[in-house]
Amino acid sequence: MEKIVNCPLCKSIDLIVHFEDEAHQLTLGAPFNVKKKIYECSNCGEIGEFDRSANAVALKDGLKEARHSLCRTLITDIQAHYSMSTTEKLFELPARTLNGWKSEGDPSAVSLAFLRVLHTYPEMLHEAAKVRFDSYKCTVILAKHGQMAFKWLTEHHGGRYSFGTAGTKINIEAQFPDSHAVVNSVTSSEEDDSDQLSSFSFASGD
Ligand SMILES: [Zn+2]
Repeated sequence: MEKIVNCPLCKSIDLIVHFEDEAHQLTLGAPFNVKKKIYECSNCGEIGEFDRSANAVALKDGLKEARHSLCRTLITDIQAHYSMSTTEKLFELPARTLNGWKSEGDPSAVSLAFLRVLHTYPEMLHEAAKVRFDSYKCTVILAKHGQMAFKWLTEHHGGRYSFGTAGTKINIEAQFPDSHAVVNSVTSSEEDDSDQLSSFSFASGD
């Protein structure tokens, strides 16, 4: 049965409904609109959200659809790098977990948070999972990806980049148009873990 909505001021049921788009966006998700019902009383002219519960349901439904859509997009993007079964094995998730998230209606906030992080650093985190998040090995992985990041930044955003090795030492120097970053003495030897990252500086150029 249709719920009867009254004007909160004069109690009239002679109301005109307007739909108003309310803009929303989840982090990394596409923008979407939720249609809110705005009532106008034909009797006294009062305008407002006379039926807040209906609008709350519309928002809840909109967010649910947005979470599912974001979940599908993030998993599809991650699949461009790693199969779902590889990701599940490395992160010790039960088999077909990702498939479940992709096909089921409403992924949890925790699964979306995991997917956002994994989507941001897919290679680095899969490599880290492969070494079972060993602290030393993960630092080496981080240094390697940092080096690749400097290279990418200078290639795509200008500036210059240099990379050199001396024995077990790696020297990276990157100059960006608007900032300066230098990494020194990152050891590439797994035997010597006393000096894995002896200095790092990242300073804004201004
Ligand atoms: Zn009224």
